[in-house]
Amino acid sequence: MGLFQRIFVQQILLTGGVLALATGAYAQPASPGDIFGFEPGDDYKLASYEQMETYYRQLAAQSDRVLLREIGKSALGRNLYLLTISSRANLENLERYRSISEQLARARIDDDTAVSLANEGKAVVWIDGGLHATELAHGQMTPLLAHRVATEESAEMAAIRDNVIFLLMPMMNPDGLEIVRKWYESQLGSAFETTNPPELYHHYVGHDNNRDFFMNNMPESKAVARVVYNEWYPQIVYNQHQISPPYARIVIPPYSDPVNPKIHPGVTTGLNEIGSAMGNRFALKKMPGAISDVGFSMWWNGGMRTVPYFHNMIGILTETGHSSPTPAFYDPKLFPQMLQVRANARAAGVVVDEESSGVPDARVLYPYPWQGGESHFSEPVRYMITGSVAVLRAASDSRVKWLTNIHHMGRDAIAAGASGTRFYLIPTDQRHPDEAGNLVNILLEGGIEIARASESFRVGDGRYTEGTYIVSAAQAFRPYVIDLLEKQDYPDTRVDPSGVNKPPYDIAGWTLPMQMGVTVDAISEDLSVDSEPVQELVAPVAGQVRGNARFGYALSHASNASIKAVNRLLRDGATVHWTNESLRAGRETYDVGTFVIENNGGALDANVSGLASELGLDFTGLSSRPDADMSTLHLPRVGLYKSYVAAMDEGWTRWLLEDYGFDPVSLSDEDMQTGDLSELHAIVLAHPDASAQFADNIDKILTGHPPGTMPEQYTGGLGLQGALALQQFAKAGGTVVTFGSAADFAIRQFGLPVRNVVAGASQEVFLIPGSLIRANVDTGKPLAYGMESEVAVSFVRSAAFAVRGQAGCIDDLLNLRYCTEITRGGRPLEPKPEAQMFDSVVNYASDELLMSGWALGTEHIREKSAMAVVPHGAGEVVLFGFRPQFRGQPRGTYKLIFNALHAATIEE
Ligand SMILES: [Zn+2]
Repeated sequence: MGLFQRIFVQQILLTGGVLALATGAYAQPASPGDIFGFEPGDDYKLASYEQMETYYRQLAAQSDRVLLREIGKSALGRNLYLLTISSRANLENLERYRSISEQLARARIDDDTAVSLANEGKAVVWIDGGLHATELAHGQMTPLLAHRVATEESAEMAAIRDNVIFLLMPMMNPDGLEIVRKWYESQLGSAFETTNPPELYHHYVGHDNNRDFFMNNMPESKAVARVVYNEWYPQIVYNQHQISPPYARIVIPPYSDPVNPKIHPGVTTGLNEIGSAMGNRFALKKMPGAISDVGFSMWWNGGMRTVPYFHNMIGILTETGHSSPTPAFYDPKLFPQMLQVRANARAAGVVVDEESSGVPDARVLYPYPWQGGESHFSEPVRYMITGSVAVLRAASDSRVKWLTNIHHMGRDAIAAGASGTRFYLIPTDQRHPDEAGNLVNILLEGGIEIARASESFRVGDGRYTEGTYIVSAAQAFRPYVIDLLEKQDYPDTRVDPSGVNKPPYDIAGWTLPMQMGVTVDAISEDLSVDSEPVQELVAPVAGQVRGNARFGYALSHASNASIKAVNRLLRDGATVHWTNESLRAGRETYDVGTFVIENNGGALDANVSGLASELGLDFTGLSSRPDADMSTLHLPRVGLYKSYVAAMDEGWTRWLLEDYGFDPVSLSDEDMQTGDLSELHAIVLAHPDASAQFADNIDKILTGHPPGTMPEQYTGGLGLQGALALQQFAKAGGTVVTFGSAADFAIRQFGLPVRNVVAGASQEVFLIPGSLIRANVDTGKPLAYGMESEVAVSFVRSAAFAVRGQAGCIDDLLNLRYCTEITRGGRPLEPKPEAQMFDSVVNYASDELLMSGWALGTEHIREKSAMAVVPHGAGEVVLFGFRPQFRGQPRGTYKLIFNALHAATIEE
């Protein structure tokens, strides 16, 4: 059944553990300390990934309870490993237990079979470490956890090994471990020992590596999804983190409201039960400080903890305190300030005993408060091992229940799909067939069952071609299907309508067909069509190359894949134009913006047919030069500002531009201040990370790390010198492109005649904390070529622009009136026409702005500019108010970025 079963069987044969099983000869397995030369958790000590790899190989070779597999490669090419730990008897029968887990999770079996399989099967538990690399203890803890579960001879551990198949991914982000370890060791003994490195700790996405678990853009996410959702179907998934409130030691379930209504309540209650088991173990082991309900909600999909919810799996995250190998003292007198309790009391005029301890009293969800004091690195290691053993024990104690539960939840999901929307159809003959294929693959990677029509068919008024993808709503992972394909409706929790709604833990809405520009039809009728299950990830259907190409080829601008093709052709030296008007050639009509590739002989025909088949693009021959205005494009030379205040949006942008063949050059502060920028066509400023409020972020670009907070070469930011150089670049004819709040930087530093109309708005009046917003695109403008006229844009506390006019008055959101009048000799001067100052390419819609998520105050951005081009000297600044490539998700707005970069190469 599993998509990747073949790979699984091959890989398991490669491991040392299997060889060892055959020989039966074992020494007592070495401990991590034997290999590392220190104990994980010792002060100031970090094991390298190489040491860990050595340790895991040795453990697998020396223990008949441990198998080691490579499950993929990291972004920088390191091996990703999975350890499977269980009793020897279980490991000898592993494929049987995997199959039972799959059959119960997919719930295509009757209840009697399920009961019998649940009794025969083993609970499957996934635990990982090392995802967020600056949270150092979990990645260091996993070697000890592996050793302990494999070797401890207690009755409890023996029962765990008998009842549980334990999947341990000991290091989710090995590249990040090495970045952070090297930084820590280089700073050890300095004032900056506990600082974070001045670069992302995942090569592309930094902390967002835990925001990628439905898109699976990154190779690490793909590797995890293959094991979890296509192979092993663990009933429990436990993901380790380390951002605890400083007055507590570890955050455990239950989590916080809101709960996404698509999640089966069996998940929520099962999770709470395991949280109780964890809290109970901490209490009885005399380990204080386990706290629940501190803001991690159950709304969002896309994290390592939360994607399992939509697969009827129990997803656990813990956040354990003290993430550094450097010891620290946690002063209990400061706890109330951290809690804001004392500060609030003081503000309310209550007399506060400033000398008293601030340790909070016991509460239902914080029953055993921590008293504070000195903390060492061994402490989070011990807490995480105890938490992990608590989870394994809960799985072991109730093995049959967890196996039965996942079947029941899957069965309920299948039953729920018998009414309402019964199928989602994804046609292949749509505007963005490339993204339709990507959506199918995203669902497949998430374990969704998909079929492909073997014939054309009709349903309702619709006609569908052979090859149409069919996603049944009646499947075990139905919550995942409907959560990704339907709109989100984030709850309004305000008791008082003038108050502030509880903002989402992450974002409020993410509906994929909207973001990706893919047509998905929801069908409530019965469907009668021959179909085949899709067994492998889909590749584009080869496109066609037609007609007489004496002059060249026409290529539609509609798909993202067309941009990849154009960049490859430009790199190979082809002459490529886009048309500035629609065009007729032969019997065909081409939209404005169509690419025209001149046939200058050489390898062009071969290149074109290669691109047609690889990328699924149609090329049409042009026998003569089109009778239309055209602009000639060049391969853009793109600079991407890379701050020492590492920004995830910069990393995502770098990933995107590399993927589409723009090959951006990273520009440091020094490059911007003293380098020669004149060879570049465009410089991109990504959204700086990410304090909640827009205006705070400008400083991160301009002033960077404050002096004294980092080694000197990483402080100071772009500075006035860099800002001026950037402005000169634009004035001399370059294009500056800004995402998110980088727009505020450009507006202020360059003095652009533009306002962000929602800057500084209070959250009672205006709040769109991560939602999809309807916008209209002026598709006649070059920067909008190939776009649809209406798109969903990703609005994450984003911006809306209006021209700051030379004359007249505008009332803004805070009821501040901006008035300007320009006079000469006492008489008003004729203002420059707005059109010469500000060209809006995308505007927020006039009606029904919220498409998915939650939004308050949409009237304040209605019809305002969402993307504007502002001339500046001989060049221009392209301001994106929304996030056109946020986390690699809104693929329907990618082309706006690509067009801005291509347009920057056009010589007037
Ligand atoms: Zn984390």
